[in-house]
Amino acid sequence: MIDFEKLIDSHLNREFRPKDIGRYYPSEIGNCLRKVWFSYKKPKEVDKEKLKIFQVGLMLHDFISEVLRSEKTPDVRLIQSEVPFRLNFPEFSVSGRVDDVLIVERDNRKLLVEVKSTKLLSMVREPSLPHVMQIQLYMHALKIPDGMILYVEKPSLKTIQYEIKYDPELVKRILERFHNLHSSLKSEKIPDPEAKLTKEMEWMCRYCEYVEECGKAKTD
Ligand code: SF4
Repeated sequence: MIDFEKLIDSHLNREFRPKDIGRYYPSEIGNCLRKVWFSYKKPKEVDKEKLKIFQVGLMLHDFISEVLRSEKTPDVRLIQSEVPFRLNFPEFSVSGRVDDVLIVERDNRKLLVEVKSTKLLSMVREPSLPHVMQIQLYMHALKIPDGMILYVEKPSLKTIQYEIKYDPELVKRILERFHNLHSSLKSEKIPDPEAKLTKEMEWMCRYCEYVEECGKAKTD
């Protein structure tokens, strides 16, 4: 008997390294800024179940790359599946391993495709704000004005896609969010509980690992 659960857990196990203030990641900026702030100030190890979900997401990304690379899909050509990303500002940088984005060519135009896995496609009514912010940032850095968020349902491989156009106003707001995050981290000033105060973000509190700290901070 081989204990595969244990093998998978140990394979996915990562060395725990707190994040550095001044180095930020595209995937975090659409989240509640108070939660992101906590993730720098009171870092916690990512739990095993979340690591497994990330891994399934990576596997789906590889599968979609394989589909696009195939000779059976002549209308769309995969140009790049590992996309380097870095934006430098005087006081901080935004960078990271971009492992959920593909660059493809369709009708002689480049298109950025962000692949996201989902448990239930019927729950996806519109692209989530963190995903939209992430792809806008990539479009900005890579100078590709056309994008798409592709949701793939895990058990069935059914998909739904949303075309996204580059939106300079939204990118301006995203960059301001990074500036606000950086100044609140430097000044030790905790941001407002954004998700609790914003209707479209309320759902984030259900998945937040800082509910307790957030509640206490509010009553300080
Ligand atoms: S509990 Fe909600 S408001 Fe508080 S940090 Fe988490 S996501 Fe933000």
